[in-house]
Amino acid sequence: MSKTSQVLLSKSRYTAGLQCPRRLWLGRHRPDVAAEPDAARQAIFEMGHEVGVAAHALFPGGVLVDEPYYRHAAAEARTRALLADPDVPAIFEAAFTHAGVRIRVDLLERLGEGRFGLREVKASTAVKPAHVPDLAVQKFVLRGCGLEVPSAELVHVDKTYVREEGPIDWARLFRREDMSRDVDATLAGVERRVAEMHGVLALGQAPDEEPGRRCHEPYGCEFWDHCTADRSAEWHLSFKRADGERRARWVDALRTGRPWVSPDLGRALGVFEPPVWYLDFETIAPAIPLFPGTRPYQVIPVQWSLHRLARDGSLEHREYLAPAGTDPRFGLAQSLIDALRDDDVPILVWSRYEHRILGALAGDLPERAIALADVRGRLLDMHPLVREHVYHPGFAGSFSLKSVAPALAPGFGYGDLEAVADGTAAAAVLLRLQRGEVEEAEAPALRRALLAYCGRDTEALVRVHGALRDLASGRGF
Ligand code: SF4
Repeated sequence: MSKTSQVLLSKSRYTAGLQCPRRLWLGRHRPDVAAEPDAARQAIFEMGHEVGVAAHALFPGGVLVDEPYYRHAAAEARTRALLADPDVPAIFEAAFTHAGVRIRVDLLERLGEGRFGLREVKASTAVKPAHVPDLAVQKFVLRGCGLEVPSAELVHVDKTYVREEGPIDWARLFRREDMSRDVDATLAGVERRVAEMHGVLALGQAPDEEPGRRCHEPYGCEFWDHCTADRSAEWHLSFKRADGERRARWVDALRTGRPWVSPDLGRALGVFEPPVWYLDFETIAPAIPLFPGTRPYQVIPVQWSLHRLARDGSLEHREYLAPAGTDPRFGLAQSLIDALRDDDVPILVWSRYEHRILGALAGDLPERAIALADVRGRLLDMHPLVREHVYHPGFAGSFSLKSVAPALAPGFGYGDLEAVADGTAAAAVLLRLQRGEVEEAEAPALRRALLAYCGRDTEALVRVHGALRDLASGRGF
C-alpha cells in the first residue's frame, strides 16, 4: 500500500468517484447517510451476482478465489498461488492491490506465455460507456502488479439467445466483446484520476457538488436524498419530464395546494363507463431463461388480478397465480381468456404494459393468439386519461399508479402489505417460487402475499376510476 492511500479505492469507489467526488467521499466517510437499497436496487444487485457466477461456466476448470472481500490479503496470496500454476486456465475473483486501489477481477483467463485476459461480467445486454473505465482501472492495477494483459473483454448477456430444451448453452447466453482498444485509450488517465480520488478521500469534509442530472447517470446515487434534503418541492419537480404547459400546471398546483381538473374530464371518461373490468399482471424477467422458448430478460406473466365493476356499482374479484416450477404462460393465458369470455366490456389498465404482455403471449402461444388479441383489443389505458386531465400536488410529478391512487383516493395505499408491497418485490418472490427456492412451509404465506398485492393493484384502478368519476361530476377534492 502506498503512503498516499490510507483509504483504499475499489472498482466501485473509482467509478463512483468518476461520477461525483462528493459521492466518493460520502461513500467512504458517511455511509450512514446513504439511502437503504430499495427492492429494485437489491434485485439488480442479485441479478448481477447470479449472472457473474453463471459466467464461470464459460471457463471450465477455472478456480474461484473464495476468500471474502474483507480478507483481501488472504485472497491476494491465493491469487498468487493460482497465477503460478500453469494448469489453472482461469481464476474467478482474483485479488490485487496497486497504487492504493484494491480489486477483485471477475474472470482472469490464462492466455499462455505468461499473459492473461481481463474479463468483466455484466448482467446488461449491451456494452455501455461506463464499462470502459471499470475495465481500465482493473487493467491499471493488473499492469501495476506486473501482469501482461493484452486483452480486455466485457462478458454480457445476449438477449437474442433462446433457451432450448435441456441445459443452458452458456456460450450462447453470453456475448464476449473485445474492449481492448477502448480500454487502452482510457488507461493513460487512470493514474492521475486515482491520485485525485485519494486527494478527495483525504479531505476533512465532503466536497460541495451541485445535485443534478449527473446524480442519476450512469448510476442512481444513493446520496440523492441526503444532498437534496433542503431543496424545495418545486426544485424536485424540475427533474420530471413534462412540456411547458403541463409543468406550469404542476407548479401551480404545488403553490396553491389545489388540484387541477380539466373541463374535458367528463367527456373523456365517457368510454370508461361501467360495466368494466380492471386488469393487472405480475411478471418475472429472469436474466437466465427458466423455460424453453424464452430469452434472457423476457417478461413472463405469472399472475393476474381482475376486478369487475357492474353498472349498479357492485364489485367482483378474480385472480390467478400460476403453480410454481412450470412454464406459467399457457395456464395464465387460458385462465384469463376464460375469465373474460362471458362479456365484451372494456378492460381498464394502467400503462401499455398489459398491451405488450398480451402481444408477446399471443406470439408465444399461436393457438391462443386470436382469443388473446380479442382481450388486447378491449384494453383501455387510464394512464393518459389522468395525465391529460388531472394533476394533484400529491403526485409530486409522478403518474405511476403508486403515486396517483393514494393522492386521488385518500386512505388507499400499500402500507399494510408486508411481504410483498411493490412490483419489484413481487417479481423477486415469484422468481424464487418458480425456481423452487422457497421452503414448502413458507410457500402458502408468500402466495397469499402475492395475491393480496396484485389484488391491491386492481383495487387501485377501481379507486382511481371512482375518484375520476366523482371529479367529473363535481364531487371530490
Ligand atoms: S447526489 Fe449527486 S451531488 Fe450528491 S453525492 Fe450523489 S452524485 Fe454527488
